[in-house]
Formats: sequence, C-alpha cells, structure tokens
Amino acid sequence: MAVSLCKECSKEVGDTEKTCPYCGAKIPKNNGLLVKVIIGLFVLGILGAIFSRFGKTPAQPQDSQPAPTSAKQKAAEEVKARADKLNLARSACERFAKKTLRDPSSAEFEDSGTYWAKEIKPDTYRVQVRFRAKNDANAMAQKVVDCVVQGKGGSWVPLSMQESPV
Ligand SMILES: [Zn+2]
Repeated sequence: MAVSLCKECSKEVGDTEKTCPYCGAKIPKNNGLLVKVIIGLFVLGILGAIFSRFGKTPAQPQDSQPAPTSAKQKAAEEVKARADKLNLARSACERFAKKTLRDPSSAEFEDSGTYWAKEIKPDTYRVQVRFRAKNDANAMAQKVVDCVVQGKGGSWVPLSMQESPV
C-alpha cells in the first residue's frame, strides 16, 4: 500500500487516510493521486524499456555477423565437399582404368587434377582419365578413357569404361 508523508508532522500516512492519524491534519486527496500517477509513469517507463529491449532482441540475430558468416562457411564447405568428391571420382577412375590394362604397372597417369570430371547424376561422375601405358605391341601409347563411376558411402563402382580417341 502506498504511503505519503503528512505535511504537518512528516509521518508516514496511508494514502487512503483523509486525515493524519498522528496530528489530525488534512491529507490532500490529490497527493495520493499524484503518487499513483508518478508510480504509473514509472511502471510505464519500465515496461517501455522492457518492450523496446524485446523488440530489438529478435532483430539482433539477423543484423549480427555470425549468420551470414556461417552461411558463407556452409557454402564454402559444400564447394570443398564437391571438389573432394570429384577428386575421389578421378582416383577411382584411375584405379578402374588401370585394371583394364594388359600391363597395369606400365601406366603413367597424368596429374589427376587435369582430368575433365563432372557430376552427371547425384553420386555419379564422368571422368576422362589420361595416361600412357604399354599397348598390345608392348609400346608406350597415350590413352584416354571415358569413365563413369558411382560413389556412395566411400565405395566406388565403375558403371562404364570406354577408350576415347586421344
Ligand atoms: Zn500529521
């Protein structure tokens, strides 16, 4: 319960009192009203501060840097994952191309980074493997093999192998 001070004796008087119980002085009614108005304004001020803070809080994650940075990071990770998968497809095709050779140990592959490689379907890659190897006449010959592989869960399966004109 709100209290006000008696103007005459300065004692605390309940604001519902019409007269001071200590000295009998009249307590002005609008004094209690003024206290209520002041308290009301004070409460409104606090509520206003709370709401303005609440209003800002949801906007902050959008404004702050971490969200765009993590989106960029995610995109970069996806690009890297795709490049890694292409390189795995390249080396899988090298292995499969080697197996088709009469003399696998004679194979001299070009830098696999230079192979043309493309994801043609989800988890399915087409790679053009380039190498030199001994041919039927036991002579080193340049070869180009068009290879399609499927890679899932770390294991690679050859779908097709076709020798292309050099
Ligand atoms: Zn009094």
